[in-house]
Amino acid sequence: MTKPVTNRADKPRCGLCGKTKNLTTTECCGNWICDDEHKYAMFSYARNSCHRNHRRYTLCGYHFNEGHEGDWKSCPKCRSEFEPEMIAWYGTNEYNFEKMPEPPAYEPTKCSHCGVTIKLGTDGYTRSGDEHWCESCAAKEMNKKMR
Ligand SMILES: [Zn+2]
Ligand SMILES: [Zn+2]
Ligand SMILES: [Zn+2]
Ligand SMILES: [Zn+2]
Repeated sequence: MTKPVTNRADKPRCGLCGKTKNLTTTECCGNWICDDEHKYAMFSYARNSCHRNHRRYTLCGYHFNEGHEGDWKSCPKCRSEFEPEMIAWYGTNEYNFEKMPEPPAYEPTKCSHCGVTIKLGTDGYTRSGDEHWCESCAAKEMNKKMR
């Protein structure tokens, strides 16, 4: 009789970063993920926690937190709540286990002052009414007001 060989690939590992220690499963989709939310420092805006990133920066997490019905990938409520660019980012960024198959098309967002392209998901920007300002233009505006 041959002993069953433990297949190392069967070991649970975080679906986002591949670690095998201190795992938990996500409430929204039941995937293995690092139980690392405690590592996050309040208000640091760091994105070093797999658990938090999935919960905060994906449609999967949002859809679950809001108590929407059905599959987040085809949820009309989620799509009505964000700009198409954010839907596409939330649905396809690296914090997802499964990527949205058909993210909405969108026009790139440009800084209303200097025209530089702003990636809403990852770049810093300031919003003023319908305008988006890139970080450097926002800083210049701030300086003007301070004078
Ligand atoms: Zn992880
Ligand atoms: Zn999820
Ligand atoms: Zn939803
Ligand atoms: Zn600008």
